[in-house]
Amino acid sequence: MADDRNLCLRCIEKGPLRNWIEREGTEGDCDFDASHTSVPCVTIDEFAEEADRWFQTNYQPGAETFEIDPDPDSDKIYHGTAGRSYDEIFSEELDSSGDVLRAVIDALPDADHYEIAQGGERFYTDAHNFESIEAARAREKADLIGLRTGMPSSGRISANRCNSLPASSASRRGRTNSSESRRSTARGR
Ligand SMILES: [Zn+2]
Repeated sequence: MADDRNLCLRCIEKGPLRNWIEREGTEGDCDFDASHTSVPCVTIDEFAEEADRWFQTNYQPGAETFEIDPDPDSDKIYHGTAGRSYDEIFSEELDSSGDVLRAVIDALPDADHYEIAQGGERFYTDAHNFESIEAARAREKADLIGLRTGMPSSGRISANRCNSLPASSASRRGRTNSSESRRSTARGR
């Protein structure tokens, strides 16, 4: 469902997405805070599209992690994924009110019901975490050149999810194809 409410510069505290509103917005009144008048605004849908682009440039589904239960009598292995959930990442990046955050997250472009019925998968899912591409590359590089010091640089467990996840590698390779096709349709307006 289209969300044409105006979101303004002042609703986003910091970061590249704030700068983007400053560049691309048109002066207007904010629909999220009545005291935000005559400020650069974009619609929630426009903002969510840009937020999606930013996210996919900077984050990827977290690598699988596992940890053996420290209890010597247990043979359990906890599976998880590196990084944080997408809504935590957006919450920190936007640093905006809960209303704004919810509206943006609800408007993120993703596989729709029809595409899911055809076997597509949602990219924004709670089934796994997301980690920064830069951090993942740095870790891979460190592993490659054997710079592992006291703390292992990979195989970390993400504390908040370690109990709940079945190991699922299928869901990690979600959306590459559909995101390309989404892009081209999204550009058309
Ligand atoms: Zn505002």
